[in-house]
Amino acid sequence: MTQLSPLPSSPLSAAAHVEALLASYPDFPQPGILFRDLNPVFADAAAFRAIIDDLADQHRGRFDAVAGIEARGFLLAAAVGYAANVAVLAVRKGGKLPGTVLTEEYDLEYGSARLELEIGQLPAGTRVLILDDVLATGGTIAATTRLIERAGYIPTGVGVVLELTELHGRLRLGTAPVHAIISI
Ligand code: AMP
Repeated sequence: MTQLSPLPSSPLSAAAHVEALLASYPDFPQPGILFRDLNPVFADAAAFRAIIDDLADQHRGRFDAVAGIEARGFLLAAAVGYAANVAVLAVRKGGKLPGTVLTEEYDLEYGSARLELEIGQLPAGTRVLILDDVLATGGTIAATTRLIERAGYIPTGVGVVLELTELHGRLRLGTAPVHAIISI
């Protein structure tokens, strides 16, 4: 079996990696939307490592669990959860979770959606860091914040790789600190 040796930290900041690798696609998935694709960031090992370290560091000591939002938030939450040695919650799109679930409906930059969370996975009062790739209008993270609160947990931070400032998503979020690796 191949042994993986620990990678050295990248000399570039997380923000520099994202600025260098972020791809933008006009009119996707529909006319008028400038789609920001972070897959090239995830596909670069040094960049991925830098963004995970940055998201964990910015909120260090303030969370006992991470919640990742389907689907790209899962990539971030799994890695930050591992790096910080904390629990991982999956916030899923509607209709995919079994058992007793909490549901929140919300509006998107394009369309509307439903997010769900299973109840009873962590003790009441658990401090949760919410993670997603992009903060656009803020509807997705606001809905996730409500799910976390309704489940009895405390949302203590929000981490995203990219914030689209012209959509003013932060205004829809609560008082928990919001950290974006880059804001454009
Ligand atoms: P919002 O609820 O408007 O903040 O949208 C956030 C969610 O939609 C995130 O999960 C993003 O992945 C996705 N999203 C919204 N707008 C964009 C965009 N312009 N480019 C890429 N992803 C987006």
